Amino acid sequence: MKKTIRDFDLNNKKVLIRCDFNVPIKEGKIVDDNRIVESLETINYAINKNAKVILFSHLGKVKEEKDKKSKSLKIVAERLSELLNKSVVFVPFTRGPELESAIDKMAPKDVLLVENTRFEDLNGKKESKNDFELGQYWASLGDIFINDAFGTAHRSHASNVGIASNIPSGIGFLIEKELKELSILDQPNRPYVVILGGAKINDKIEVVSSLVKKADKILIGGGMAYTFLKSKGIEIGSSIVDLDSLEFAKQTLDDYSDKIVLSIDAKVTKEFSNNSNYKVVGINEMENDDNGLDIGPKTIELFKSELKTAKTIFWNGTLGYSEFSNYADGTKEILQFITSNDVNATVILGGGDTVAASKVFGYKDKVTYASTGGGATLEYISGKNLPGIDIINNK
Ligand code: AMP
Repeated sequence: MKKTIRDFDLNNKKVLIRCDFNVPIKEGKIVDDNRIVESLETINYAINKNAKVILFSHLGKVKEEKDKKSKSLKIVAERLSELLNKSVVFVPFTRGPELESAIDKMAPKDVLLVENTRFEDLNGKKESKNDFELGQYWASLGDIFINDAFGTAHRSHASNVGIASNIPSGIGFLIEKELKELSILDQPNRPYVVILGGAKINDKIEVVSSLVKKADKILIGGGMAYTFLKSKGIEIGSSIVDLDSLEFAKQTLDDYSDKIVLSIDAKVTKEFSNNSNYKVVGINEMENDDNGLDIGPKTIELFKSELKTAKTIFWNGTLGYSEFSNYADGTKEILQFITSNDVNATVILGGGDTVAASKVFGYKDKVTYASTGGGATLEYISGKNLPGIDIINNK
């Protein structure tokens, strides 16, 4: 058993909390603040126990100097301050005298947010490669480390594994809740059906080979399907694809043809836009400039027939580019179906975009559990270890 935040005396201590504030931002606005809301329980607990609360998080990927503007956590500090109903000191640096003196000035119950940890990636990927000196430096800013960022627990970064290697550590309430809720999938009621979609194909595709052993069926739609379809020699036009994974996809299909169900039709368009013309075509009828942005009606019916008798359903990745209203039907209809009386299953959603879609379309409150993790949730439920949790002190 891992130590939790409840196992520490936080009074007057500098408590470093790794949160997952990696929220979707469009046109300078937070589109969905779910991950900030999910962090509140741990932060409020630390405030109530008189801690000096120092928060870390990443936001997106920071590859070039110019990314800093759109990837600053300042906007998160503002939203967090509204949600906590108290001021949050935002330090626009990841290290240095300004950060250290802001921490020195903190009184118990104060909350401070450090700038996006991935700004350190501009400096030789120090955050993402878990640079030893960086983990040691961040740890030196506090007395206790609490990891509550489930969404990045599958990564070994300086802001989780690095800090935890240097000072006493525990998990927060969100990680505790995620582990408890996802344990349903250790011994799922069967049939256990997994739905996979989305666009981060190379992050997720390898998990298919272990998930396929646990699940009774895997339904693959969304951007994820096209790598599998192409590996079978099907024309996929300009649809999203991971060319490096074609061989893997082909092998997985050969090994598990009885378990994997792929989309059989698609809604295609010639331009990546919600305003361009679209049509539904059979999966073998795509032209070389067609972009498949949603599953078609036949796939929706096929997936429903597989889901009808399921007792456990796990879903990661939307079934189309559901941010465009013309390509949201697949995701919407399947969400509607699995939360209706036609299906009597435990339904677990994983991943920021999938959960955001369920919220936008009005189904989030109808599922059994919505996990904050995408890749982390997938790795965990397929039986892999999560380094960000493994490193935490045992009781
Ligand atoms: P992920 O982070 O892998 O769960 O991907 C979620 C994203 O995948 C969402 O923003 C979707 O709009 C996008 N997506 C789903 N299906 C497609 C598709 N067929 N083509 C392009 N993007 C897609």
